[in-house]
Amino acid sequence: LTFTADQVMSRLKEDKIKFLDLQFTGLFGRFHHTTMDSKMFRAEDFTDGLPKLDGSSIRGFTEIHESDLIIRPDPSTFATVPWIGTPTARLICDILSGGSKREIFPRDPRGIAKRAEQYCIDQGFDTSYWGPEVEFFVFDKLEVNTMTPYQGQSYHIQSREAPWSTDSVGYALRLKEGYLPSAPGDTLMEYRNECVDVLTNNFGIVCDAHHHEVATAGQCEIDIRFDTLVNAADAVQSYKYIVKNIAKKHNMIATMMPKPIALDNGSGMHVNVSLWNKGKNLFYDFADEYAEMSQTARYFGGGIIEHAQALAAIVAPTTNSYRRLVPGYEAPVYVAWSTGNRSAIIRIPAHYKGPKFANLKRIEFRAPDPSCNPYLAFSAILAAGIDGIKKKRDIGDPVNEDIFKMSPKRRREFGITQLPASLREAYEELESDNAFLKPVFDSETIDRIIEHEEKEHVELAVRPHPHEFSMYADV
Ligand code: GLU
Ligand code: MG
Ligand code: MG
Repeated sequence: LTFTADQVMSRLKEDKIKFLDLQFTGLFGRFHHTTMDSKMFRAEDFTDGLPKLDGSSIRGFTEIHESDLIIRPDPSTFATVPWIGTPTARLICDILSGGSKREIFPRDPRGIAKRAEQYCIDQGFDTSYWGPEVEFFVFDKLEVNTMTPYQGQSYHIQSREAPWSTDSVGYALRLKEGYLPSAPGDTLMEYRNECVDVLTNNFGIVCDAHHHEVATAGQCEIDIRFDTLVNAADAVQSYKYIVKNIAKKHNMIATMMPKPIALDNGSGMHVNVSLWNKGKNLFYDFADEYAEMSQTARYFGGGIIEHAQALAAIVAPTTNSYRRLVPGYEAPVYVAWSTGNRSAIIRIPAHYKGPKFANLKRIEFRAPDPSCNPYLAFSAILAAGIDGIKKKRDIGDPVNEDIFKMSPKRRREFGITQLPASLREAYEELESDNAFLKPVFDSETIDRIIEHEEKEHVELAVRPHPHEFSMYADV
């Protein structure tokens, strides 16, 4: 489902669309919008854009003295938004700098993703495919009538599917046993069905399947079909927007926070990627018996492994991301690869083998989580992989043991390094290793990301953690 400008103009009439919601993504992944009366919208707005954005009020964008930005809707992203009462359609927008120049604004994440796509073509790969596996939690929302002076109305969230923990007997369900339970254990099937309907019918995003994930309390995954880089990143933003709004409709909260619950699985956003040229998947090679991976794929994976620590700052960009990237929860910690090993950051899924499945050959990068900005994450992964191809960094030998169970000595023998243990380590890695990003990211964007992450790190570091009371209140 993609639309041309003309098709959108006629859909506005045919569907009696009253409002147009113009959507775009900030540097740190937040989805924003501004709404206009569809009668005021002209076909020229698709080329000239609309002067509707004060960049100084979006974190990471502009300073107050150079704040006027233009948003230019992309007609191909037209979708009707079913949960809004008045007929409303949305369009995802590019961001242009204001004034006479009208160039893509250098910190527009979608602009960065477009640059990444061009960079890929320049390197001889006319297409790259991106298949994100977005996991998220859904909680029940309980209204409470406390007003806090700074945050306004507040509410509590409660875990679904574990009613015993809060009510009568005070026992909690076992953790990490939420994978594929049938109803009534899984209370969210109809919710996910509804999300899939909207994803497919309104937003044109093809869904393969959906399921309850491993965390006991309401963890979900809806798998969407792979797509080209910008389209796949648009799809992730639409996905988050849809699952959160459908949850809200049912008085629930959907969250992309990577690790909301202690001691249970977190939410990842594994990214499956392959590079193509002229209709051929260049990651596939029958000759390699173990993983059927081409030398191009081995170099691409080698690039990810070389830059894994710096990449973490972009694919796992929140303080909470590092509570997920710990041993024991299917989230990766160690910088290694394998076909089946879920403790490694790269997996080459081997459900199918043989030339018949050549088109499915891909690298699965497991470090990303859904708190990342998908435009930046895909662009950075691509830049790391292409750097590996340019420098011929072979991925090396696979590690097929459970790395979580290896002794530190044995890990050293294998030359296995670790992902950063905190956001601070991650942005420090990005500070010292970012040349590989330069064909796609400008320096100021990288600086803004580092500054922002440092600020968030400090924000958390200066506050006592609730669990510290349990550890230290009696010292
Ligand atoms: N939830 C796991 C993670 O944090 C992934 C589970 C899976 O392999 O689907 O990455
Ligand atoms: Mg999963
Ligand atoms: Mg996966």
